[in-house]
Amino acid sequence: MSKGLLVVISAPSGCGKDTIINEIVKEMGNEASISVSMTTRDMRPGEAEGVNYYYVSREQFEENIRNGEMLEYTTYGSNYYGTPVGPVKEKLKNGKVVFLIIEVEGGENVRKIFPDCVKIFVIPPSMYELEKRLRGRGSDKEEVIKERMEIAKTELQRATEYDYIVENDVLEEAISDIKTIIRAEQLRINIMQTKLREVIENA
Ligand code: 5GP
Repeated sequence: MSKGLLVVISAPSGCGKDTIINEIVKEMGNEASISVSMTTRDMRPGEAEGVNYYYVSREQFEENIRNGEMLEYTTYGSNYYGTPVGPVKEKLKNGKVVFLIIEVEGGENVRKIFPDCVKIFVIPPSMYELEKRLRGRGSDKEEVIKERMEIAKTELQRATEYDYIVENDVLEEAISDIKTIIRAEQLRINIMQTKLREVIENA
């Protein structure tokens, strides 16, 4: 079996990254999953504990950091967000594709720990479209939307740190682009070397 693939997905809030990755994971079935992050932010309407996030208090989050249970974490706005390390390592060991949908600081830290990860940045067709999508979501207050637009501007500056940039204008095309990237990455020699050894040994 080839080893797993860790895929970091970043995008300004409102770019549709969750929709894209949910669709891909649905298609890939048992082969792929999305890491469920931990956060101290409030639950939004339509979200569920253990599905979108594990929602915890600041005290609990800080205790998890102290106990070495986070692969990476950051503060975004005024909240903590982080990736619990255990499930990610377990899935990679079993050869699965694991998606981390995280912001740019987290993405940078993950690369230090997993240099073989692939990093994909999703961009909106324009800032105007991004603001429209954020407002359309209807769940955030005006000040939160303003804050997210400001964060988006600084995040977009860092898209060049990524291996690939995918524009989410037409959803189906963005999905197809990311599936193509994953397939190509799975065929890379460093990922396929276990398979290659198997073939040589059985020749
Ligand atoms: P939201 O509040 O919109 O769900 O997420 C805000 C930002 O935090 C998004 O850019 C999202 O990708 C990022 N984020 C979510 N989970 C994590 C995480 O575990 N680690 C890091 N570094 N960022 C995260």
